[in-house]
Amino acid sequence: MEILHHFDSGVVQPFEISGDRITFDLRPGQRILNVLIRNAPERLAMDLLVDENGEKFLLNQGLLVSEDGETFRSVPVEKPQEGMLRASVSVPGGQVRLATRYPYGRDALDRLLCDTHRVPYANVRLFGRGHRRVPIFDFGEDGEGKPHHIFIAGEDTWETAGCWVADGLVRTLCSDRPFADALLERGVIHVAPLASPYSATMPSASYTTLEGKGIYGAATWGDEAPPPEYALLREEVVRIIREKRLGLMLTIHSWQGSHEVSEVGTIRRAGENTLTESRSEWATATMETLMRNVPQSQHRISERIWHSGLARDYLLDKHNAITFRIEVTTAGLGPDGFRLTAQRMLDNLGRITDWAPACASA
Ligand SMILES: [Zn+2]
Repeated sequence: MEILHHFDSGVVQPFEISGDRITFDLRPGQRILNVLIRNAPERLAMDLLVDENGEKFLLNQGLLVSEDGETFRSVPVEKPQEGMLRASVSVPGGQVRLATRYPYGRDALDRLLCDTHRVPYANVRLFGRGHRRVPIFDFGEDGEGKPHHIFIAGEDTWETAGCWVADGLVRTLCSDRPFADALLERGVIHVAPLASPYSATMPSASYTTLEGKGIYGAATWGDEAPPPEYALLREEVVRIIREKRLGLMLTIHSWQGSHEVSEVGTIRRAGENTLTESRSEWATATMETLMRNVPQSQHRISERIWHSGLARDYLLDKHNAITFRIEVTTAGLGPDGFRLTAQRMLDNLGRITDWAPACASA
């Protein structure tokens, strides 16, 4: 057996091969695995060494398996003993891809760009600064008083289910013109499916700096000088807020299989700013509508952010703007579920007509 990982977003962890069995050590936490196994036996047995964090997530989600490296399916894992999970996959062609996240990297982004570049009403801007680039899809003509809706995925690059939802947003808008027209008549939509295409090819879970350091990039919105990709996205959002044109601003994350629901949320207080009763009610009603018929979903408003510097903390504190985040689950939800999540959110977006409370009135 050979274990290979020199492809887009390939990551290997310590392993040992013994006969037809391979053992991967995924400790500590939820270590990322994305490998190609070549010359594999017809029935490949796998042991995964895990701690408590990794165990829950993999038991809920399963191990992800693919023959072509494009379409992944979940294979259930069992727990034969403490600290170990076990899975078995049939490998008819002698090679198989194994992953702990549904891979979304530059390959997937390239595919999305190629599949949609002929759609006349989809435009792509390539933001760039400091040796980094980030593409953003734009839909709809700007017009008097139209709200701007912004979706940002891949802030934490290995929370790939979020990227698949964003990918689904773009594909839904591109594949259904009458639906898109109706939606875009009343708003403009921006989608960044992968906030940092470079970090997606690195083993760090969130963001990899130019110096090769893994940092919690999503929490740099409040920094004086965030890394290039966050700085560029922040400028875009702040510009829209200043014009009082903010509609839905949603960062799309994934807690993978750690929880069995997809949860959208926002906060009531940041810095000196507290939502009024009516803005608070609006935020809750907006989330409720947005999540209608979204698979396995719920919504929640918290008193304060759990980690300072995240987008909704910074944007409420410094700009008194209400913005949202969703954590997409991978427990029982795979590629079809991610696509459906995107479609339902867009459906629901069209049902929300009042965006004035997103920005505080002067
Ligand atoms: Zn995250």
